[in-house]
Parts: sequence; C-alpha cells; structure tokens
Amino acid sequence: MRAAVMVEVGKPLEIREIELDEPMPREVVVKVKASGLCHSDLHTMNTDFGWPLPLVLGHEVAGVVESTGADVTGVKAGDHVVANLISSCGACADCVLGVPTNCANPGAIRRGPNERPRYSLDGKTVTQIGDIGGFAEKILVHERNLVPVDKALPFDRAALLGCGVITGVGAVKNAARVKFGDTVAVIGCGGVGLNVVQGAAISGASHVIAIDLQPAKLELARTFGATEVVNPAEEADLADRVREIVGKGGVDYAFEVVGLPQTVRQATDITGRGGSTYVVGKMKPGTGAALTADDLLRGNKKLSGVFMGATVAEIDIPLYARLYRQGRLNLDDLVSETITLDQVNDGYAKLGKGETARSVVVFD
Ligand SMILES: [Zn+2]
Ligand SMILES: [Zn+2]
Repeated sequence: MRAAVMVEVGKPLEIREIELDEPMPREVVVKVKASGLCHSDLHTMNTDFGWPLPLVLGHEVAGVVESTGADVTGVKAGDHVVANLISSCGACADCVLGVPTNCANPGAIRRGPNERPRYSLDGKTVTQIGDIGGFAEKILVHERNLVPVDKALPFDRAALLGCGVITGVGAVKNAARVKFGDTVAVIGCGGVGLNVVQGAAISGASHVIAIDLQPAKLELARTFGATEVVNPAEEADLADRVREIVGKGGVDYAFEVVGLPQTVRQATDITGRGGSTYVVGKMKPGTGAALTADDLLRGNKKLSGVFMGATVAEIDIPLYARLYRQGRLNLDDLVSETITLDQVNDGYAKLGKGETARSVVVFD
C-alpha cells in the first residue's frame, strides 16, 4: 500500500509502497478515508524525538473497518471508526480507574520484538507513530486503538476527533473542569487551541480570551466562541490587558497551547489568584520554563500538564461526535482544506507557517 514515510529527521516525507501484515487475533485493518495533519507530527519531522526510522506519521484517522482478527469484539467489517492514539492496556490500575492516559503498560497492545512487524519496507520494520501510522491507504492497529463512530459523520471531520479535538476540548472538560461563569484564556489558537476555546465556550465560561500573534487565527477563534481576542504584539503588557478584560487579577484558567517556555510563563502571569495554568502544547524534550516560586506561591496558583486532554476515548469521542451533530461543536471550520497523500509535504509547509488550522489528507 502507499504511505508517506519519514526516512530522515528534517527531510520531506517520501511516498513509498510498504508491506502491510495480516491482522493478529486482536488487530484490525482499517481502510483510511481521512488523515489529519497535526502539529505534533511536524515537530517529529523536524526534531529527533528518538522514534525508530523509517516511520509513518499521521495519527488523526477516520476510516472503515476492512477486516478483523479472530478475537476482535469491539468492531466489525464495515464499521466507521476513529483511531484512538491513546494506547492503553486496559488492565493496569490507572486503566481500571478510568485514566488510560496514565496507563503503565501501553506497550501491551503492540507487537513484540520477536513478532513480525505490522508495516515493513524492503524487509525493514516501519514504525507507526502513536501506534497508528495514518498517512497510508490502510492502517493495521490493535482494536483498543479504535472507536466506532456514527456513519453520518463526514470522515474529514471525524478524523479530527482523534487528536486535536480530544486534546483541546478534553483539557477543559476532563482536566480543568471549567464551570459556567468561569473565566478562561487560551494562548495559541491553532488546531488544538481552537478546541480549548470551543470547549470553554460550551462549558459556559463568561470570558474566553483567545491570544495569538496571528490575526487570522484570532478571527477564527471568534467563530469558535472567543469572547475577546488579544494579540500580544499589539499590547504593552499582555497580563495587564487580560486583567483589564476580566476586571480582576487574572483568569480562573489559562491554557498554554504553544509549547514554549515564554508562553508557559505568560500563561502563569495571566492566571489569577487561586487559578490554574494548564500546559497543553507539546514542548521539545528537556525544555524548561523560567518561573519563580513566588509566581505560583503568592497567588496560590496551580500549574499542571495535560496529556491528550486526559481523554477516555470510548466516552469522549462519541460525545464530541454527538455535540457536532447537534451543531454545538464546530468541526467544519477546523478543516481548512482537504489534500491528497501526495500533497502531504505541502500541507505541512503551510501548517509550519501557521497558515492553516488543519489540512486533512483524504482517500477515495
Ligand atoms: Zn496530534
Ligand atoms: Zn493500562
């Protein structure tokens, strides 16, 4: 099958023919219909995170189940599915407690080193990013990496439920648990940040302040429910502007969705007394943020990371699909354009320049 393969860090993806193995008892082959271009894969293309190469990127996938292994019970041929990149064993204490993002043994659902690889190229194992590897005509994954969805959902919209939506909306719903009337600010309004914005709006936040350096993203943020937009380039002091908007020392919840030390610092600055700062943006390994103890201590502020929106995919993906069908969750304006697999490098070039919310590769 054709796939976009990363062969070297810092180089464009190559469209290659790769071999797909047969499904093992709990594995499933899915014909990919749509595969979103997520910012974290762009980081992976340009930064050495230690992934074994060659590697198939793409982890926001929707498609149709083609065939299943003998012991699969969760999906059947013909089902429409969204890939769930939160690999979890289902048996450790955190999984049993309903926190699969903290799973102690996500490797339990991968093939072992002595088993045949799921994907191979010229006899060499090809790694699947996020256990998905979705820039390909098909994916071969463990059934726990799939969630069935309503067939009425368009595939290019459904794909976004697999990462950008669960990460952004989930940070609001599952981690911060924003309540009606709370005040929220979001630094960084790309594909994930826009979902933090709409999660806060759906939760009934009284202020949803969108912060970004790109005017086009701020305008988009308004359509996702931002009540105010702020461009830090136009402000003498970002925190003063946020305090002016909310009429007190800062917001109840600030979300950092950029992944830089200075934006983490800004996010804690705009958090009010007793408030919470959530780091959602993916940072380079080893990155620090220059905070003093006083920044947090005197304001009784909390600082937390949120991985994948603390999502339980089996619950959250169908919920967000329902909200979309009710017209309450906006997926339509997240899809900036649909492209072919051959255009994947152009799509990433646009994403790198901050020109698009989401390009989605679609397959016939
Ligand atoms: Zn992603
Ligand atoms: Zn587990």
